[in-house]
Amino acid sequence: TASTVVDSGAPPKKLRRGVVLGKDGKPCRSCNSFVDFTSQTKTITKSTIGHSLVATGPPLACPPDVEELGRSSWTLLHSITASYPISPTLTEQSQVRQFMGLFSKLYPCWVCAEDFQDFMAKNRVRAESREEFGQWMCEAHNDVNRKLGKKEFDCSKWEERWRTGWKD
Ligand code: FAD
Repeated sequence: TASTVVDSGAPPKKLRRGVVLGKDGKPCRSCNSFVDFTSQTKTITKSTIGHSLVATGPPLACPPDVEELGRSSWTLLHSITASYPISPTLTEQSQVRQFMGLFSKLYPCWVCAEDFQDFMAKNRVRAESREEFGQWMCEAHNDVNRKLGKKEFDCSKWEERWRTGWKD
């Protein structure tokens, strides 16, 4: 995580021990991992550690942290590309661009949203066909993967991952 965050609005951008704050000055749940968020909001007890660090996550459903929100969001976004028409009308192309524009403004993790808006300003949504939109989304996801130091996904496989299932 970066040690400073630049924000155009007045409220907080300071990171306390690597934790991203929300516009209200409090730790931002959807901008941090569960472990980082909890470290700022509670004393970590043995049971909290147990719950937060095991692969299965906490026993009760909780508001999403940055990773759960991200996985669910990518699932939705790639699934939208998978169900997008092969040859969309101009209206459908325009709707999908509007959707992506609004999505990037409303995304609950504000630091993620700002970077995604920057990406979209430099890489206009390509949606003249399903294939083009699927590739664009894959490239957008890879941009975040690179930023987070994750492995890049092979975009020639986007449709197998999100629409048809893997070839044997
Ligand atoms: P995810 O990255 O969530 O991927 C889910 C699955 O998608 C993978 O298992 C893989 O099968 C598949 N996949 C991976 N890459 C691709 C690709 N390029 N194309 C198609 N399929 C692919 N987190 C932050 O900490 N900081 C951020 O700034 C940030 N920005 C984000 C911006 C957006 C718009 C979104 C939707 C999420 C963002 N996230 C951010 C969350 C982050 O991208 C991950 O979702 C989160 O770290 C969980 O990662 P994961 O390893 O479980 O897999």
